[in-house]
Parts: sequence; structure tokens; C-alpha cells
Amino acid sequence: MTETQVMDAGDVRRALTRIAHEIVERNKGAAGIALVGVVRRGEPLAARLAGLIERIEGHSVACGGLDIALYRDDYAVRRHEARASSISFDITGKTVILVDDVLFTGRSVRSAIDALMDFGRPAAVQLAVLIDRGHRELPIRADFVGKNLPTQRTERINVKLAELDGEDAVAIAKG
Ligand code: 5GP
Ligand code: MG
Repeated sequence: MTETQVMDAGDVRRALTRIAHEIVERNKGAAGIALVGVVRRGEPLAARLAGLIERIEGHSVACGGLDIALYRDDYAVRRHEARASSISFDITGKTVILVDDVLFTGRSVRSAIDALMDFGRPAAVQLAVLIDRGHRELPIRADFVGKNLPTQRTERINVKLAELDGEDAVAIAKG
């Protein structure tokens, strides 16, 4: 197993800062937006983006977490309840920005949209990811991307975040 680091803490910080500015620019402010991170590593990323947007726009931004485990299309028994989700605000009428660490086939995002709709009817849903590693199997694309990393299917992106792993870093792990 060889690992090649592709982002350090500064790279992650700058990518998130740029995405925060892009979100505000695309939505002409932050009045109607909410950030929802996909459990697990999407959650701290969403919280950081919310903090950055708050500093840019000067008012607070709703932020929550979405657990999609029960909505995966490979989960045998579908349940209309996401137990580890933490969305304490009404998403109806909001522009919800889904946040995840890595976008790969797109199946998790499809599940996340499905799970989100059980909480209400957002005005729009946008997608922000730290890494887009390609290999989509569904017609899904990210609106905001930290870094495009073309990968082999067999490779794996290791994303470390300070909140969960003690440091920020992104690496490609090969076979
Ligand atoms: P997808 O559903 O698009 O195939 O995969 C995306 C989901 O699986 C994301 O929630 C992401 O956390 C995880 N994932 C897929 N590939 C990778 C990868 O190479 N590295 C990491 N860290 N997560 C991945
Ligand atoms: Mg994930």
C-alpha cells in the first residue's frame, strides 16, 4: 500500500474558503440557505463551511447532519427514518447545500437527496464535495468541488479531518 498526499491542512482550508465564497456568490448571499453534511465526514465539513459563510455574510447559517445508512440502495430493508440525522430546522423553502467528503459513483448523493426529502421540501438542492474522484454511475454532478482527483476504481482517497482524525489531509492510497 502506497499513499501519496495530495492536500495538506492549508490546501483543505483554502479549498473550503473558496467554496464558501462560491456558495455565497451563486446564491446571492446566504439568507435562504442551509448546509447539510452527510454523516460522517460531510458533517464537520458542513459546519466549517457554515462558519466561513457566517463570517462572509455576517449572519448565522443553518447547519445539520444527514445519516443516509438506511437509504442506501444496497440496504435490504428500507426505513423511513434516519436515526443519526440532526436537522433541527425546517428545510422547506430553503436552498439546501448537501456536503460530503468524496463524490464517487453518486449513489450516496442519490440516497442523501432521498433522505432529505423526508424532512421537507427544499426550494433547491446543491452539492458541495471536498473531492470529486470520478466514476459516476448516475447523472449527478457537484456544484462546488474542492479538488478533482482522477482516480483508478481500485484506488482509495483517504480524507482526514481535524474533528475526527486530529489533522486535515487528503491522500491517494494505491493497492
Ligand atoms: P459514492 O456513493 O458516490 O459511490 O461514494 C461516495 C460516498 O462514499 C461518500 O460518502 C464518501 O464518504 C464515500 N467514499 C467513496 N469513495 C471514497 C474514497 O475513495 N475515499 C473516501 N474517504 N470516501 C469515499
Ligand atoms: Mg461518506
